Amino acid sequence: MPDGMNFRWLGAAGVELEYGGERLLVDPYLSRVPFRYIFFGRPHPNRELVLRHLSPARTVLITHPHFDHLMDVPTVCRDLGATAYGSSNASVLLLAHGISYSKIQIIHPGNNFQEGPFSVEVFSGEHNRIAGIIPHTGRLPKQLNPPLKLSDFRMDCMYSYRVSAGGQSVLLWNTPSPEGAPAADVLVITASRRPEAWRSVVAKVKPKAVILIHWDDFFSPLERPLRPMLAPPRLGERLIRWMDPHEFARGWVTTFPEGRIYIPDIFQSVEINSNR
Ligand SMILES: [Zn+2]
Repeated sequence: MPDGMNFRWLGAAGVELEYGGERLLVDPYLSRVPFRYIFFGRPHPNRELVLRHLSPARTVLITHPHFDHLMDVPTVCRDLGATAYGSSNASVLLLAHGISYSKIQIIHPGNNFQEGPFSVEVFSGEHNRIAGIIPHTGRLPKQLNPPLKLSDFRMDCMYSYRVSAGGQSVLLWNTPSPEGAPAADVLVITASRRPEAWRSVVAKVKPKAVILIHWDDFFSPLERPLRPMLAPPRLGERLIRWMDPHEFARGWVTTFPEGRIYIPDIFQSVEINSNR
């Protein structure tokens, strides 16, 4: 029997889970294109960077099709052999990038499937609002000729996932609502909400450990040291705030005195051992 699942954070919302030599990816985004592309131009994904840091993978799960979750998925399908699972918009965007139907599965909340050693369950998620709105949402443009504008990566819906292998489970949960949340050994969350917002989710999931991701400025390239992302504006708080993971961790420990929270180092593999 292989040992526990290994977890590797890839920057932004990207995660790699490895078990028994098989790999499953979630939202890998290594290209980290400059901020100016929000307004101008059509960036090319950085295939070379993806191949430098990632190994062949069986599966790639997409939480939602925004550029910082989907842009590198075509490379992962084409060059690393992964089958992609995501929403209808995600599927259209992958087809536009020349990925074949046989490598794409459209999924919905309530679906579950097995990919090698990984059991995957699909749940609905909820995107964080930025100044009250969710950017780049709705129907895709009729013409999708890559390289795409960042605003072409439009979201239709958002998913959360529970991935289990070798008797351990990792829940990548994207909404402060605990509705439908299953129990899991490890809960993976993003820094865009306050620690208190996760209270009812933690009560339901009862994780042994929590891992914090998606706090880093994904417009800053990988060769620079990671720095926090500007936090979405919130009513009653100062306008300029950074998603400082250490500040989040301090708030987390105050909110959940029993709760263990980990801020992973980028690309460092850590073994998940639920007995520890
Ligand atoms: Zn998004």
